[in-house]
Amino acid sequence: MIDKLTQAWGRSPLATVDPQMAALIRREESRQETTLDLIASQSIVSRAVAEAENSVLRHKYAEGYPGKRYYAGCGNYDEIEQLTIDRAKALFGADHANVQLLSGVPANTAVYLAALKLGDPVMGMDLSQGGHLSHGSKVALSGKNYTFHSYGVRPDNGLIDYDAVQRMAGEVKPKMIVCGASAYPRKIDFSRFREIADSVGAVLLADISHIAGLVAAGVHPSPVHAGADFVTTTTHKTLLGPRSAIILSKKEHADTIDKAVFPGTQGGAHFNTVAAVGVAFLEAQGAAFKDCMQQIVTNARILAETLLGAGATLKTGGTDNHLMLVDVNTSFGISGKTAQDALETAGIVANRNTIQGDKSPFKPTGIRLGTPTVTARGMGDPEMRRIGGWVLEVLRNPNDRVLQGRIRSEVEILCRAFPLMDRYVTRGTYP
Ligand SMILES: *Cc1c(COP(=O)(O)O)cnc(C)c1O
Repeated sequence: MIDKLTQAWGRSPLATVDPQMAALIRREESRQETTLDLIASQSIVSRAVAEAENSVLRHKYAEGYPGKRYYAGCGNYDEIEQLTIDRAKALFGADHANVQLLSGVPANTAVYLAALKLGDPVMGMDLSQGGHLSHGSKVALSGKNYTFHSYGVRPDNGLIDYDAVQRMAGEVKPKMIVCGASAYPRKIDFSRFREIADSVGAVLLADISHIAGLVAAGVHPSPVHAGADFVTTTTHKTLLGPRSAIILSKKEHADTIDKAVFPGTQGGAHFNTVAAVGVAFLEAQGAAFKDCMQQIVTNARILAETLLGAGATLKTGGTDNHLMLVDVNTSFGISGKTAQDALETAGIVANRNTIQGDKSPFKPTGIRLGTPTVTARGMGDPEMRRIGGWVLEVLRNPNDRVLQGRIRSEVEILCRAFPLMDRYVTRGTYP
């Protein structure tokens, strides 16, 4: 009986063991294959990254750090982690890298634990003006543990108000300034933030989750070069890696950062992901990655120009990076939710977003459009013009289901010309 069980267990394909879940995954594969993903915080991974992520490395605990593990059998894990650390340091020119983070929020949490005491004054960008939940939002652990003061963007031009940041720093005397954003379409002046932090003796954390790929490719200025004490980033946005995060720091913070990650805030790292991050960082050193990052920015500019040319209003009047914020209330007299739903019906997936000036965080009037996924699929200038045209048609006629159906079919034809799922050997994995 036991023999029969061990023989059978673990060897049947997913479709046999769990046809319900298998069908749902197939349905999602088809959705991703046939729709345009303009969600700025997402991207797709290469086949090589997917293979590493789908490896047996997922099976083992390796708590600790290379050469200092709490488990036996970790020799391969030591080499894998060290390789990923070395690639992270080389890619960003950093003194120290911790690559064990489970995701972006845990990365920021660990930096706060390493550098702050409970209740310390900290400055971060307001969530409703482009910041992130983990930069001191009242509903998040960061906002509960520390005394955050939020800065924002100028009402007239939507740009970060550096003078106001300087004034606020003088008043609240923060121990740390957090810069970096989730919805900001322009370059961030990390050197200016460094100056402001220095003027009040604060440490500087740059969270480059959204723009890390652009930074690695030299398409956006680097906070490491500008002297940030800590740099956090997710690896699954413009970096085109698996869902994970890293912390980069100056040498003097190396030990406190490592202790804050493990055992401070995490247990065992996900080593299949650590290896996949290492693969993504190797790919990020190549010419093809640089071209892709350049094209992400070019594609965003072309999409923005297409919308602006038709009279739409974009926050800050355009974009320097991979994303733009369309003020759909001013442009089309509709809400962010209406825009999001109408676009999704037409096969164009983007998310509503609060923008500076919104009265309620529950009724955003913006829509955030980003180009990482469509660019990684291989789309370029002509495709961006077509996509821009579709976005305009849909947002001008948000209740026209016939129009949305027609565009949905055209979107599918375009998507099939830039296939996605053929990268992944899913069927080989579940034979
Ligand atoms: C996406 C993002 C994060 C959070 O990452 P998770 O992986 O969702 O935890 C943190 N900071 C910024 C600025 C982000 O854009």
